[in-house]
Amino acid sequence: MTPQFLRSLSLGLLLAAASGGPAAAGDRPAADLLVQHARIWTVDASRPEAEAVAVLGGRIVAVGSDADLEAWRGPGTRVVDAGGRRLLPGFNDAHVHFSDGGGALAAVQLNDATSAPEFVRRIGEYAKRLKPGQWLRAGNWDETKWTPAELPTRQLIDAVTTDNPVSIDRYDGHMVLLNSKALALAGITAATPDPPGGVIVRDARGEPTGALKDAAIALVDRVIPPPTPAERRVALERALREAASLGVTSVQDMANPPIDYGDLGLLAELLGEGRLTARVYVAPLITGVEDQAKLGIRRAFGGPSLRIGAVKGYADGSLGSATAYFYEPFLDQPGNRGLLSDTMQPLSRTREYLTRADATGLQVCIHAIGDAAISTVLDLYGDVAKAGGPRDRRWRIEHAQHMAAKDFERFAALQVIASVQPYHAIDDGRWAEARIGHDRASRTYAFRTFRDHGVRLAFGTDWPVAPLNPMLTLYAATTRATLDGRNPGGWFPEQKLSIEEAIESYTLGSAYAEFQEREKGSITPGKLADFVLLSEDVLKLPPSELRRVRVLKTWVGGVEVYSAAGP
Ligand SMILES: [Zn+2]
Repeated sequence: MTPQFLRSLSLGLLLAAASGGPAAAGDRPAADLLVQHARIWTVDASRPEAEAVAVLGGRIVAVGSDADLEAWRGPGTRVVDAGGRRLLPGFNDAHVHFSDGGGALAAVQLNDATSAPEFVRRIGEYAKRLKPGQWLRAGNWDETKWTPAELPTRQLIDAVTTDNPVSIDRYDGHMVLLNSKALALAGITAATPDPPGGVIVRDARGEPTGALKDAAIALVDRVIPPPTPAERRVALERALREAASLGVTSVQDMANPPIDYGDLGLLAELLGEGRLTARVYVAPLITGVEDQAKLGIRRAFGGPSLRIGAVKGYADGSLGSATAYFYEPFLDQPGNRGLLSDTMQPLSRTREYLTRADATGLQVCIHAIGDAAISTVLDLYGDVAKAGGPRDRRWRIEHAQHMAAKDFERFAALQVIASVQPYHAIDDGRWAEARIGHDRASRTYAFRTFRDHGVRLAFGTDWPVAPLNPMLTLYAATTRATLDGRNPGGWFPEQKLSIEEAIESYTLGSAYAEFQEREKGSITPGKLADFVLLSEDVLKLPPSELRRVRVLKTWVGGVEVYSAAGP
């Protein structure tokens, strides 16, 4: 059945239900799925709480009390007793790198290594499993968890990786570490200049240490054989299983160089096979805007399971790699205030991309972290909106981490969406103040200030930069308790959100950010039947306990795509 058919079918049913009322149920078609005895938080202001939900043809046809919905039960209806547990709309992660995430699940795990020797040991162990010459990749290392927190070097890992080139990612995706073999393959020597928007980190003698930042990463990426379609497909399947097990029913997949079209073709293949168990909105790189423009593709083009029509750009790097672009230097690196990304140099280039995207009706998502980067993007968005005239653009700033005080108002006035990742706040909050100072830190991950100004929030994780688990994001947004345990009352606690606000940002907010708020994001008749049953009631638990909540069942389009083992 086509989505259009399903939609008109369910609308017809809704009309029938509305005219008949609960008592006149005799000739009503039965539901495919009926979930009863649930504590439903609908994220629909017109009916915030309910006990039961009925699904037909992949869509929600009724929401109400157990008694009201009894009429939807028929001989073929699958009935699930939720046992009084909490049911929420499925989570919509507004910013992921989906196949990278799936790939990272199988790669060497470096993020929780608590010392340089442990980091080296894990790399050595993993390298033993590879064929000679095979690249060792991913890893998500984080040197801030070591003492001293020094950037790793090629010398550290050369001895344990003699047969394999290494290019492992820092967890923020804005730095990689190469071993000497990889530096040689990339042709990087002391004589290689830093590319615009990038840094080749060098030692006191001017020799490359192996660390490459931002645009310099392209120097090695071009010599690494890209993952084959078969490898990417395995990664996507792994990512889909992970998403289902965590109650993530929609993802917005931000393309990353060098895969400039994301995994659109492979996702379409999975969809055709009935194996695409999460809904995916793909945002290819802005440098390819002309390709979508030529085809006349507009925002949110496609069906409920797979869509395209956004473009993803970069304005700067990251705070952790000291490449986020600020007005003032970093406190711990005087003279360095970060970098405007290569695609923003000159700015006229990005203005052309944006003008093209606007004329076509494409949605724009630009990564901007430092206050000067965010300001620059707002300038550009403002210019293009002025030239193009009023329109429902929903252009986004991805991360929107460190705001200049002057920019909240125009962020709201331009109706820009803040696509934010709360987990970063409790992760970076460990060390961010040392790098940018108290004043700038007070406007960092400023979710409350955004809301107060009327800016719409969309929640995500940037997986694999942060874990995909929505419970960790809800925990982060409601507690702001940094991972090092030093801020149990919250790091800048005035920026905390309530659990209701956090859930809304993660469901309806993310749906709005992809032009799908009429299709999903709440448990409302007519919408897609995407929801998740939780082990505990996240609305009643103290926020500090949210991390232990597990997903019991996940449904996408009324189909159960995950069920936890055991009771
Ligand atoms: Zn990202």
